[in-house]
Amino acid sequence: MSFTRRQTRQLHVGPVAVGGGAPISVQSMTTTKTADVDGTLAQVYALAGAGADIVRITCNEVEAAQGLAEIVPRSPVPIIADIHYQYRLALAAIEAGVQGLRLNPGNIRKEEQIKAVASEAKDRALPIRVGVNAGSLDKDLLEKHGSAVPEALVESALVEIRYLEEVGFEDIKVSVKHSNVRSMIESYRLLADAVGYPLHLGVTEAGPPPAGLIKSVAGIGTLLNEGIGDTIRFSLTADPVEEAKAGRQLLEFLGLRERKGLDLIACPSCGRAEVDVIDVATRAQEALEAANLPIQVAVMGCVVNGPGEAREADIGIAAGRGRGHLFIKGQVVRVVPEAEMVEALLEEAQKLVDEGLDARLAHAEANAAEIAAAERLQLIEIQGDANRSAERRARVADVAGGD
Ligand code: SF4
Repeated sequence: MSFTRRQTRQLHVGPVAVGGGAPISVQSMTTTKTADVDGTLAQVYALAGAGADIVRITCNEVEAAQGLAEIVPRSPVPIIADIHYQYRLALAAIEAGVQGLRLNPGNIRKEEQIKAVASEAKDRALPIRVGVNAGSLDKDLLEKHGSAVPEALVESALVEIRYLEEVGFEDIKVSVKHSNVRSMIESYRLLADAVGYPLHLGVTEAGPPPAGLIKSVAGIGTLLNEGIGDTIRFSLTADPVEEAKAGRQLLEFLGLRERKGLDLIACPSCGRAEVDVIDVATRAQEALEAANLPIQVAVMGCVVNGPGEAREADIGIAAGRGRGHLFIKGQVVRVVPEAEMVEALLEEAQKLVDEGLDARLAHAEANAAEIAAAERLQLIEIQGDANRSAERRARVADVAGGD
């Protein structure tokens, strides 16, 4: 399955290409004081480790710009300076060596100031994001439109884009973030029709998880599904590492980025479960995430339906009576005591990544599949066959054999 993505102009934030068919990039923003160089760098490294391709840092005072001068050369990912109100801080951030700028058209409104920044950015080949935010929309536009409606957000972006274009500046990204998901979606749809620049997607002020995650996924996911969006940010009221991780996961789950981390699928559990699925899944997730294995792993509560339902997973474990059936691509390769399920899963997952599918299937324990099949039948007898497979098969055979 692939998405037809909207064609956009490509620009570069340092070495990271944005737009023009480049992989959709993940952004996040530090929450430290920028003047605290070591604290900010530690967070930048944590964000990069969690999947951020680009990190934005506020440049709200001279000391912040000075901090950027030390942070940028030591950062593992390109840095974008976030600028509000004071255009001179944008010039200072450029001098500090940042790889991009975000300007808020709602609070830097003077044409000559915007053009001065654009001219300097153009000389250094730096991109600028026109970052419109419903919460800080230009007062005149707010009055004209009555409220922060999608048309007002897009108009704000277009005014700023025109200023940039007038000085020949085209390395532009645009965002029209709204805290209301439906308004956000509509704003980006309008914007996508109006410009050919790459778009930076986000639901602003989404709040703490889980609501903040749900809003972000609803807004960003809907647009990505329509082929709109070149770079994304989850704006969560949480540790920004959560933002980076969530952004990265959304792209991986949509098949828009190669899997870099774990994809744990687990059944929701039900009366058939032979183990505490939540406990096993949580422990498995912690262990597998720590091992940083880029695979899909299934944790299933029973062997009756588990291996079949999770046969697409790279590896998985399902609970039998006191034992775990460890399977690779649906084929049972080991049967282990219940207490060792997580340990065995981790061990086998690591070997699968190191040695590959064929090697691990070749190492399947003798009789594992037979033992598993016998235990499964035993369990069906004890629990009953919820799917009534035998009865249904007999009825189908009756019908097929009838006159
Ligand atoms: Fe229930 Fe088993 Fe399905 Fe889990 S795998 S939901 S325990 S039937």
